[in-house]
Amino acid sequence: MNPWLARAVILAASVVMVAIRAPHGRRSRGLKVVKNHKGRQEVILLTLAMLGFFIPLIWVVSPAFSFAEYPLRRGPIVSGILCFVVGLRLFHRSHTDLGTNWSITLEVREHHRLVTHGIYRSVRHPMYLALLLYSVGQALALPNWVAGPSCLVTFGILLAFRLRVEERMMLAEFGDEYAAYMARTKRLVPGIW
Ligand code: SAH
Repeated sequence: MNPWLARAVILAASVVMVAIRAPHGRRSRGLKVVKNHKGRQEVILLTLAMLGFFIPLIWVVSPAFSFAEYPLRRGPIVSGILCFVVGLRLFHRSHTDLGTNWSITLEVREHHRLVTHGIYRSVRHPMYLALLLYSVGQALALPNWVAGPSCLVTFGILLAFRLRVEERMMLAEFGDEYAAYMARTKRLVPGIW
């Protein structure tokens, strides 16, 4: 199959993701941060995740990773598009449910409320699940051994380190309310983990 199809898919998915996030980013910048947990580890993890997101865009516009190219096949790109669609829907939904309580890093904002409704009713980290699905979509749809898995690897590292720290922060902030929420929900995958 023509690799330009993969380029169009990757570009479209990235644009949709940025469009979903942009209004939340703008609004979040206007809200006062009352507690910041952004340590050195968090800065490194965020930088890595950004890199993982930009590498596929470099692949779209330049031949920088042409040494790692492999042929595009129908099965992987169709599955990748499916992951993108489900992941981006979930990304939109979790942003809507989290509202002004969202932030890109580990921080507590003014008037921060614990969200337990909507998609947060069954799983504590639906936005991370969405980004994981998005990353799997990219690994499948992008026929390049470097740019394809870049998001999955960097976001996987971020998740491995951040999940526990974020839950500790939420426990410190919301106490018993968060402990009870933890007891009745799964972390990432509804009904499983
Ligand atoms: N981990 C969540 C949220 C990601 S955004 C998810 O995957 O859906 C990260 C920020 O959201 C954290 O810094 C924290 O301040 C906030 N947050 C996480 N879970 C929350 C919840 N249930 N209610 C309110 N804010 C939450």
